[in-house]
Amino acid sequence: MDNVAEKVAEKVLVRTACPLDCPDACSLEVTLTLGRITKIDAAPVDELSNPLTDGWICKKVKHHADRVYSPERIMTPLIRVGAKGSGEFRSATWDEALDLVAEKIKTAIASHGVDSVLPYLYNSSAPKLEANYLTPHLFARLGAPEILHTICAATYGAAWDQVFGEMLSIDTLDVVDAKLVVVWGANPAVSGTHLLPLLAKVQKAGGKLVVVDPRATGTASRADLHLAVRPGTDVVLAYALSNELVRTGKVATQFLESHTTGSKEFLTAASKYTLEDASKICDVSLDKIRELFELIANTQPAVLRMGYGPERNRNGGSSVLAVLGLWLVAGHFGTNGSGILASTSDGFSVDVHAPWPKDVARPTQRTLNMNHVGRVLRGDAGAWPVKAKLFLIQGANPAVTAVDQVGMLAGLANEEIFTVVHDQVMTDTAKFADVVLPATTHFEVHDLVGSYGSYTAQVISPVIERVGESRTNNELAAGLATRLGFSADEFNGDPQSIADRIAEQKMHSLQLRKPGTTVQFKDTWPTFGDKRARLFVADSELPLPQYRESEKKYPLVLISPATSHTINSMFADTDPPRVAISMHPQDAEHRKLSNAQRVIVRNDVASIEIDLVIDETMRPGVCFMPKGLWLRATQTGLTSNAFAPDELNDLASGACFNDARVEVTVA
Ligand code: SF4
Repeated sequence: MDNVAEKVAEKVLVRTACPLDCPDACSLEVTLTLGRITKIDAAPVDELSNPLTDGWICKKVKHHADRVYSPERIMTPLIRVGAKGSGEFRSATWDEALDLVAEKIKTAIASHGVDSVLPYLYNSSAPKLEANYLTPHLFARLGAPEILHTICAATYGAAWDQVFGEMLSIDTLDVVDAKLVVVWGANPAVSGTHLLPLLAKVQKAGGKLVVVDPRATGTASRADLHLAVRPGTDVVLAYALSNELVRTGKVATQFLESHTTGSKEFLTAASKYTLEDASKICDVSLDKIRELFELIANTQPAVLRMGYGPERNRNGGSSVLAVLGLWLVAGHFGTNGSGILASTSDGFSVDVHAPWPKDVARPTQRTLNMNHVGRVLRGDAGAWPVKAKLFLIQGANPAVTAVDQVGMLAGLANEEIFTVVHDQVMTDTAKFADVVLPATTHFEVHDLVGSYGSYTAQVISPVIERVGESRTNNELAAGLATRLGFSADEFNGDPQSIADRIAEQKMHSLQLRKPGTTVQFKDTWPTFGDKRARLFVADSELPLPQYRESEKKYPLVLISPATSHTINSMFADTDPPRVAISMHPQDAEHRKLSNAQRVIVRNDVASIEIDLVIDETMRPGVCFMPKGLWLRATQTGLTSNAFAPDELNDLASGACFNDARVEVTVA
């Protein structure tokens, strides 16, 4: 921590990087005044800076110091003294808290087996070693269950793997070479914002921008063409466009023959849908669909920016598979400015996992779907083979981020489960804990920042002293591991040890790959033996995309996308988005509702009273509440997640947030 001590006495500028759950991984410059963060902005544009950052950052992180020094920051370990969920705690020492947690883990294993210990490790806004090093290693060594990250991106990842294996994404910076960019189910106006100026460059050079999204988002408002599809129908649109490419002779026959397998099966399935069918099912005008078809059929080079929105419903896997398939059928690959912009995380080649000790057998870890953790915590019949006895949550706030919020809150309130939360601030989830442990922010650790929107890896070291008694994830794992009988050598979470481990990785290069070096089907290929993309996989859980209609007991679809205020639920504590439900004027008129009126949003599971915003950017039949609100945002203590079913989608058992159905009436 010497480097921090040197910074305390004066006003200094320090460089670091942003690891939050956002693709961009910005290079940051932090201003410290007497050792405290007084400003956060982009690092200067130079060879040490992520080129994607380009000298500016989002407003969320400009205000990140509000969270670092938040009055809700957890300063010491805490032990519950009030009723579960009351948020009443007393301070404790780390030794007392760790002794208690370790004892509870041992007791749970002795009485109910290791499957009764549930580690809910998300850490999507943590840097690489904090997320991947000692904590997952500890629970793997115990043989405790692995809770699968099915809440976001699992379906997308499974679809990508099915079609391309580990083929890399194109580089975000290469988008500028495209003549057409189709942004499908993503909104870089609020998330991954550094794509926006690149899209503007494409348009300035005469290229076209198309957005496929149920809402007229900030990105859609900049587009040359916007298709406001009904949520869950993307698969039909992609199939119909593929079919039309065949019908009009615009299909990339040679590309399909040379570089894919399964095109016959895919195109046979697609042949069920015409553009007219897509117009009806997706509820988009035929003219707009034809316009998109003409652009895809006749523009080269063309980039698809595949977003995460289409996976968040019952047809999620089908939608992603079908849209990826469309790009293959169109043959938009092989040249600069073509291909698919997806996650670049496969390009992060640094090993950030703890080595498995020699001569120790690896225990089998049972897996649990994150979307069904609420069922297990409640003890629903058949949900899990044993009673859950210990629940440890790190880098996650499932009280407000999980599906079936009512069920999750009931599970968190289960008195029979000993709950441990390691977090930076007193979240809604932490209030249900028996022990709360203070966590560091990324401004307080040695680590590596990866990226899923650029091919970069950035080394970070502490820029401030620890706030309160916060400890890193690796320190927590080490503290528990030694109490559970593992060696301190195997579990060394000391900051210097982590810094040494990073140094061992010989991180000499910020840019792992240069722009222009990940052209798909030229520099990077599907990683199957035949180097072909797969449009049909007979033994997959989802061999071909398929369309299923949703149940319609309640008439309105409620979607809950990200806003410019939060990263998941982070920052909704310090700068929440507007607490309201947005609705198209037609839906409001039908219900005789007026703007700013208090309304009740309800279905069979939950009911929330909230302000109404009548909003032309919505499409009829679809309402919007912001992602990430905390429970205190509403009087009933529930948010949009209360309406999200815990049903699973059709590939990798992903979450179905956008299958939430509601009615809205006057309060
Ligand atoms: S959240 Fe994203 S855009 Fe904002 S600073 Fe971090 S990486 Fe950059």
